[in-house]
Amino acid sequence: MSSERPAFIMCVCTGKCPGFGKMDIWDFINTVRMALPVQYGIIHPQLCEEDGDRYLEDVLKPNQKFFIGGCAPTMQYKLFRDAFQKRNLDVKGDLVPIDVRDMTTEEAIGRVSEELKKHGYHLE
Ligand code: SF4
Repeated sequence: MSSERPAFIMCVCTGKCPGFGKMDIWDFINTVRMALPVQYGIIHPQLCEEDGDRYLEDVLKPNQKFFIGGCAPTMQYKLFRDAFQKRNLDVKGDLVPIDVRDMTTEEAIGRVSEELKKHGYHLE
């Protein structure tokens, strides 16, 4: 496990994607950032665009895992590989991609919680 709590980014696919229509993204992110063991939680509009890459390159750092809520893990590994590589990080080890599409707010919070526990992050 990394020394720091992980960062959590929710990628909302421009905010118009029907895949996130069942959840209240503000209730979701506020619960993740306040109630779960993360360093911080933020919402990004579209991480797989050029500015998303630039954002990731700015914030990625060693010794901190990045949990990203959004589309399918296979997509995320592919889309974010270059940004992780540019920061000398391993997308397969330093990224924890979580598919939260088509979930209610509670279901999505439950999924993130499970992943955090699975990776050894517990509330103090
Ligand atoms: S990374 Fe995935 S969830 Fe985010 S905008 Fe791109 S396709 Fe949508």
